[in-house]
Amino acid sequence: MRVLIDAGPTRESLDPVRFITNHSTGKMGYALASAAVRAGHEVTLVSGPVALQEPEGLAEFVPVVTAAEMAQAMKERFPKADLTILCAAVADYRPKVYSEVKRKKSQGPLILELERTEDIALSLGQMKKEDQILVGFAAETDQLERYALEKLRAKNLDWIAANLVGVPGSGFGSDTNSITLYCADGSKTDLGSGLKTALADDLIHTFSTGKKRSDF
Ligand code: C5P
Repeated sequence: MRVLIDAGPTRESLDPVRFITNHSTGKMGYALASAAVRAGHEVTLVSGPVALQEPEGLAEFVPVVTAAEMAQAMKERFPKADLTILCAAVADYRPKVYSEVKRKKSQGPLILELERTEDIALSLGQMKKEDQILVGFAAETDQLERYALEKLRAKNLDWIAANLVGVPGSGFGSDTNSITLYCADGSKTDLGSGLKTALADDLIHTFSTGKKRSDF
């Protein structure tokens, strides 16, 4: 299969010195890319800025910085992908105005105006053809099942892998994760806790042998 994965955070700059980002380290997405290579797939990885080694054996590695760059890279490559996994923690907002010069501090508070970035999952969900499989991730601090199912429907995903963040042993930066997988057919599989590398093997196996939305 041709597998397309996005991973890591994005960075949205305020000025040449500062940016807005999040705690994503890219570990889960990189583990998925390596697992997909191991399983014999042709893998493209689009990655935000992370401190990880590029996985070996990729067909293509595309480094990006901003949500807009990630969206463009993903939309260009999506039509050729059989399986697309959206593991990136894309910034939902970016500063409305980028200052070419460093912003100076003043005594009072600073109010930043932010604007929405593109929701890549939503865009790809709208572009998706019958024979394509689209998988999202939902990282939540609470109400995991409710939010995961809402995203699965709203973004026209075939699967969503849900994990809690802000708890030990799961989520950002950790080598381990705890994942529940929801399918568009209504089924739910608890993959339990484990190393991200082991969970990635399970996930790739499930997605590459599993059903897609058009089968339901
Ligand atoms: O941010 P949210 O919780 O909605 O993320 C759910 C899914 O949507 C994830 O797979 C994430 O990679 C994707 N997403 C995206 N573009 C965004 C926000 C989220 O592709 N701007």
